[in-house]
Amino acid sequence: MGSERSKTETLNREGAPTIRGRCMCGGVRYEITGPMFDVVHCHCESCRRHSSAAFVTTFNIDKTHFSYTRGTPVLYKSSPDVERTHCGRCGSPISYKNAREFSIFACTLEDLTLVKPQAHIMVGEMLPWLDFGDDLPCFEKGLHGKPPIGHGPSNLPQVSGESVRDNSEKTNAARDNFARDNAA
Ligand SMILES: [Zn+2]
Ligand SMILES: [Zn+2]
Repeated sequence: MGSERSKTETLNREGAPTIRGRCMCGGVRYEITGPMFDVVHCHCESCRRHSSAAFVTTFNIDKTHFSYTRGTPVLYKSSPDVERTHCGRCGSPISYKNAREFSIFACTLEDLTLVKPQAHIMVGEMLPWLDFGDDLPCFEKGLHGKPPIGHGPSNLPQVSGESVRDNSEKTNAARDNFARDNAA
């Protein structure tokens, strides 16, 4: 293994790097055998609730390139078409899946230096007290919808405390209704 290659990355049979990740307690471990893409900071209220963090960094992969190598996470259906997973022991969020994409919470990677964020998404729900120095494109919703509304999240006049509260309340209300209807 060359020294330029991360020690947590090894080559699989096809010659592509295998990337490994884990939850906090190590009870859930996974590996990825294909490229990561759509690396974003997500500011949506649901990711924030799921992780209890101010924002999350995620990337997408083809689900066929993903497998658990240890443990099985708990699945939580947070919306009609959204499945999220977390470790049942330590609580680390692991993945997000909807009809179109499969995302991994980037900070579960063994080697976090592999991540190169390319955008901020869902900035309509971004907390107004966050301050970023980057100049990445900022999308009001997802990465593949309308064009970005600006570059550098700290330069967005649209993000005010009031709009964030309104937008986040709507998101919470929709999700809470779903959770109530689907309570065991
Ligand atoms: Zn765990
Ligand atoms: Zn999100």
